[in-house]
Amino acid sequence: MINSFLVLYIVFLKQVINLLIILLTGKGLNKIPNSDPLNKPFRDFQIDDKPIIVKPERFNYTELLAEHHKLKGKQLAPVRPQKGRSHVDSKISCPKCSAPNIYLYDNNGGRGQCKCKVCSTKFNPKNLYDKQVRFKCPHCNKFLDSIKNRSNFTIYKCRNNNCSFYKNNLKSMTKEERQAFKEKPYDTKVRYIFREFDFDLASLKGDSPVQSNISLSKMYSSSHVFGLIMTYYVNYGLSSRKTAAIMREVHGVKISHQTVLNYAEAASVLLKPMLDNYPYNPTESICGDETYIKVNGKWNYICFFFDAVKKIILSYRVSPHRDTFLACRAIYDVITKYEKLPDSLKLVVDGNPIYLLAEVFFANNDINFDIVQVIGLTNDDEVSAEYRPLKQIIERLNRTFKRSYKTTNGYNSSNGSITHIILFCTYFNFLKPHASLEQKVPVIIPELEELETMPARWCKLMKLAESYCQS
Ligand SMILES: [Zn+2]
Ligand SMILES: [Zn+2]
Repeated sequence: MINSFLVLYIVFLKQVINLLIILLTGKGLNKIPNSDPLNKPFRDFQIDDKPIIVKPERFNYTELLAEHHKLKGKQLAPVRPQKGRSHVDSKISCPKCSAPNIYLYDNNGGRGQCKCKVCSTKFNPKNLYDKQVRFKCPHCNKFLDSIKNRSNFTIYKCRNNNCSFYKNNLKSMTKEERQAFKEKPYDTKVRYIFREFDFDLASLKGDSPVQSNISLSKMYSSSHVFGLIMTYYVNYGLSSRKTAAIMREVHGVKISHQTVLNYAEAASVLLKPMLDNYPYNPTESICGDETYIKVNGKWNYICFFFDAVKKIILSYRVSPHRDTFLACRAIYDVITKYEKLPDSLKLVVDGNPIYLLAEVFFANNDINFDIVQVIGLTNDDEVSAEYRPLKQIIERLNRTFKRSYKTTNGYNSSNGSITHIILFCTYFNFLKPHASLEQKVPVIIPELEELETMPARWCKLMKLAESYCQS
């Protein structure tokens, strides 16, 4: 009796524990354990072979028109709309030969179908799918279906049940995996998938620089004042009001806090090209992380990438969205800093899938590197133990950034936040001694080294930055 009561009690306790675990982690205890906990996210994002790209045959309507003229001895006349009607919408052009709307017939009385007078293609402007680029499965040569539109990309899937990729994946499943697949077929990736991104490499280039109306050249070449202001405001992280107060009360220089902000903004405009284009010659130990920043009262993300050996900030992109486009832009900054991309470049990041998607994006563009995700907080897997130090460095960088950011109480304009980030990164890379570099600065410039004081170094740095603006 007591025994069966105890058994019931134990079962009850187990359920309580299970419930607590579900409440705490959102995951149950009784789930079928995956043989490798990292397996699943990686599986979803594993980089499959590239699809076969099928580009439909294209013509150039001007060449076709010239051909027509040659053959028939006269110009092909544009379409004359029926009485009371006009040409089809001027935004529509022929998907096959690019002929403009004046060569397009309304082929079925305004119900959507058009016909090109130049190349005879019939099409529906609302559904150009089969006239555009299409993708074929590299394993079975069947057309892929577009299955999902996500922000930043579209997913295409091979639905062919006889596809070798699909069949082999089914065959290689363990018993447990097969069972899990039966219960939740959408959790396991067994079919060939391709992601087409809605942006291209060219769109990842730098943000357009902030414009400033204030000319600084007289300021930093003739006076120590500018260097003092930058030192208080950036190095010591004082607010613009405190900086102005020190200039007034200690140095007897009457300036307003707005002047401090204006100088900072003008300086950042001049410094950005040097910060972005300096030949840093990075190592292969790169880590990245995001943190928050308030712009116009709204939280934005800033994504840092950082050379963990040289302690150099390589990227500092800001975006209102923590999305794949942000990750791709930040990684673009990193890979363009190499003269030749290292064969075994590894980027250590957190568990956010945007980095895996970025890896897929770059692989689509024949740029290859490995993403290493440091997920948990405990050293329970090899990956985490090896790369945790890198991860800790970027977290420290984030803390330093937040501390220097706090004094500014957020920003009223996006200019202000970009200004702050550029100045912080410049200070970090070129001026801040680093404990782990034996108190040396990450990027050593001899002309700066020989100067004794920080204000003098800021002024010199501005002069060096000028040459980057002109080049
Ligand atoms: Zn046409
Ligand atoms: Zn296939």
